[in-house]
Amino acid sequence: MKIDSLKCVGCADCLPICPQLAIKIRNRKAAIDEKCSDCGACLRVCQNDAICAEYIPPEQYVQCEACPIRCKIKEGFLGACQRYQNRDGALERTIKLKKLSDVKNVVGEDWRKEIRRPLITAIGAGTTYPDCKPAPHIIQNKVHGIDVVTVVTEAPLSYSGVKIKVDTDRMLGEEGSPISYHRKKVGHLTTEEYGSKMLSLGGVNLLTGPDGLFVAKVVADVANRKKIRLKIGNGAVLDLQVGGPPIINGEKDYLMRVGCGSATLGLFAEMLKKVADEVIILDSHLTGLMSEHAAGVYVGTAPSGVKLKFPRSTPGRYFGDHGSGWGGTSIVNPQEVIESVDSKIAKPGMLILITETTGRQAAMFQLTSTGSLKEIAITVKAKEAVQTIAETCENSRVSAIYCGGSGGSARAGVTKYPIRLTYAVHTNKAKLTVGGAPTFVLPGGGINFMVDVEKVMPGAFSWTPTPATICPIEYTMTLDDYIKMGGHQEAVKPFIKGD
Ligand code: SF4
Ligand code: SF4
Repeated sequence: MKIDSLKCVGCADCLPICPQLAIKIRNRKAAIDEKCSDCGACLRVCQNDAICAEYIPPEQYVQCEACPIRCKIKEGFLGACQRYQNRDGALERTIKLKKLSDVKNVVGEDWRKEIRRPLITAIGAGTTYPDCKPAPHIIQNKVHGIDVVTVVTEAPLSYSGVKIKVDTDRMLGEEGSPISYHRKKVGHLTTEEYGSKMLSLGGVNLLTGPDGLFVAKVVADVANRKKIRLKIGNGAVLDLQVGGPPIINGEKDYLMRVGCGSATLGLFAEMLKKVADEVIILDSHLTGLMSEHAAGVYVGTAPSGVKLKFPRSTPGRYFGDHGSGWGGTSIVNPQEVIESVDSKIAKPGMLILITETTGRQAAMFQLTSTGSLKEIAITVKAKEAVQTIAETCENSRVSAIYCGGSGGSARAGVTKYPIRLTYAVHTNKAKLTVGGAPTFVLPGGGINFMVDVEKVMPGAFSWTPTPATICPIEYTMTLDDYIKMGGHQEAVKPFIKGD
């Protein structure tokens, strides 16, 4: 890249985004040095069009093919992601491939096999209140010859909620929109995950707010896999049940997208190039344009002259938008995604297939001799290709993670020294399970955990009008560690067969 000094106003907007620190301000103008790997990041942020491409003789760089950026890396320098370096004309990964033993200290120890499963679950255990009494059941038994203790309680947790994952490419609402249940706010629409929309319900601030009882009830209902109806502010009405397909505005969604539009081309370019001259995969994240995409180029697709109306990320990958159209975009009539067709490149008769990442809908167009696009019946071969995309999709479903914080007073039922329980959980000396199911404990302080509700028996969760949700929690550790943490030895009872 080079700077057009007539246009550059020296605003320095491009400086922080240059991964190579290749841009400096000199005499109130930006200047780019030889570290530049032509990643194009600065082009995207310059408001003044002051950055432009510069011809670099091919013998001066090696082009990296490891991602769509395709950095031009000069001798001795790095690519934009700092992973590849040009050494003597060859690209080398800057970190050598690691063995598991190289990272053992970072990964840390696993739990001993004896404590991976609780001796009993906390489902039906009840709660002792106040917490300073020992937990309702503290059970000891031998496992693989080692004395093991499991401490269980049904803990009321005011720091609790669920994250619901809805596998769909359909627009549910704007990120951050409130979610209501019986017209009461119980959560918000949070950041999407790959192929899924995410709903966050509950959490301490809503539980302690004016509608906390509704919040506690809906969180427990989701965790117990009951049917619920939610309304997203300015968005969809959802009928959800963990384990089932989502019903969005009364319509069952049945396919989870195979990937974004770019991934779909990565998966199916070989097949798609045989059915049309150009293929557009509509998707709200990334819409793919086969002839430009690296996968299309790899399988030998020729340029088509088709230009899309979405903003380009990298060749063949266009940022989509959100709406009720194809692939979760605003495009209702698929042809609308085509901004223009360059008649110098396009050939009359050229076939364009447009579909979605689920293969749910597809349309085919042919370029006429006058340069216009005519919709034609989708060919048998194209239909088969679209069907293959649809068959590669997983079924849409609803799943949920229950999140809770049990690092408070509930620890007193386990030990006289609560901080020792927290440390034991974080150093894998005590295994935390919920209804027998493994948890993921969040790093940092406290005992904040997540559990897949489908691994926990339906009905195991409940709620109380404090308001809080109630979660069956088990801590399992060796008897030695239990004694060391100051456990309630006096309350330990032997495991009785049939427990
Ligand atoms: S193209 Fe990339 S590496 Fe080069 S100056 Fe711009 S941001 Fe930096
Ligand atoms: S993988 Fe890294 S070095 Fe290679 S093109 Fe992409 S950003 Fe550049």
